[in-house]
Amino acid sequence: MRKLSRRSFMHATAGSALALSGGMAHGAMGPNDKFDLVIKGGEVIDPSQQLRGKRDIGIRWGIVEAIEADIPAARTSRMIDASGKLVTPGLVDLHAHVFPYGSAIGIPADELVPHQCTTTVVSAGDAGANNIAALRRFIVAQTRTRIHAFIHIANMGLSAFPVPELYNIDFAQVDACAMAVAENPDFVLGVKVRMSENVIAKHGLEPLKRGILACERSGRPAKMMVHIGGVETPSLMSDILNLLRPGDVLTHAYSGAPNLAGAFTNIVQDGKILPAALEAKKRGVVFDVGHGGGSFDFRVCEAAIQQGCAPDVISSDIHVWSGNTPGMPFLPWVMSKFLTLGFTLEQVIAMATTAPMKSIDPASKAGTLKVGAPGDVAIMELVQGPVNFVDTRNNTRTGQAYLKPLQTVINGVPFGRPYQPPFSMR
Ligand SMILES: [Zn+2]
Repeated sequence: MRKLSRRSFMHATAGSALALSGGMAHGAMGPNDKFDLVIKGGEVIDPSQQLRGKRDIGIRWGIVEAIEADIPAARTSRMIDASGKLVTPGLVDLHAHVFPYGSAIGIPADELVPHQCTTTVVSAGDAGANNIAALRRFIVAQTRTRIHAFIHIANMGLSAFPVPELYNIDFAQVDACAMAVAENPDFVLGVKVRMSENVIAKHGLEPLKRGILACERSGRPAKMMVHIGGVETPSLMSDILNLLRPGDVLTHAYSGAPNLAGAFTNIVQDGKILPAALEAKKRGVVFDVGHGGGSFDFRVCEAAIQQGCAPDVISSDIHVWSGNTPGMPFLPWVMSKFLTLGFTLEQVIAMATTAPMKSIDPASKAGTLKVGAPGDVAIMELVQGPVNFVDTRNNTRTGQAYLKPLQTVINGVPFGRPYQPPFSMR
């Protein structure tokens, strides 16, 4: 007989504990109740519980209820056969552009799912104070994928793209941004700023200073996400790094893009990692890949890794421009590049599940397949190579394998078959 899970027990005995669990209430599952969905026979890799092995995952009422060596077919209403496939927590993309119709570069998050296996994505500054409510009401509320956001310090976000949002610094309105951070604690993580010269011209540190001030004035533990790549001067790069606080996210960390004069002003200069980058790494600044269409250079990345600045998080920076480039910055493809750079499968999966969830919400139950977590699952195939990868500077590397997305389940409900009647509760 199957015992009540600890969460079920809590449900039965402690209403107050449930209220704290983020609203993921679920009913106690009795020994004769069926799972809604079992994902059967896959090789499960879940870095959150150091698990790698053949397991069946049983989901009921949107929640992972069991992860066991064998769940009999008779115990489930619907099944996905995952034999020979990898089964991981739904992937988490810390840097994406998912505000279609509002920002000029957004893609609908649900359209990314077949290409990314993403169940949680972060809108990286698509909206500013003036249009964050549209992101919230018209996109987040209509989308199956979980969406969080960094609010842009520029009050129109990326709606004016490709026109640079901060050539005119007046668009960076600290109080409006702070208010937007304060008023949307359920999905807004902090403030985005793009610090490259082709975005902020000669404004130096001022856009970043305004972003940090907005975080502080919000009264929340809000984080910065700071886009770098081709900043105005070599020393400005160190100055930016020195302002970042523990938990702030440095995105496009391995950009090799030049500034407007053609100078290379990134975290690796003349083959050497900047001391300021090493110090930032030491005090807990999060190094995020943010591959995109112009922001990932194998040579910068390899030098940074060798000299102590490996990534904490792998993210895509997928948008309507980058998605058309040969670097193909879809999350599993970017993860595959890091397999080629020497990271293990467990490491790259951790950098796209547990690591970004730590930035999003350390208390969240997403990003894991532990019993009690939301039923967010990625099913992928590890296709053996050889396979050719290109970065955004035309450097190529040959790898031995790549991750191919196959199917995604969100809150226990698959994208595609088998369908659940009714389709979805959440
Ligand atoms: Zn971006």
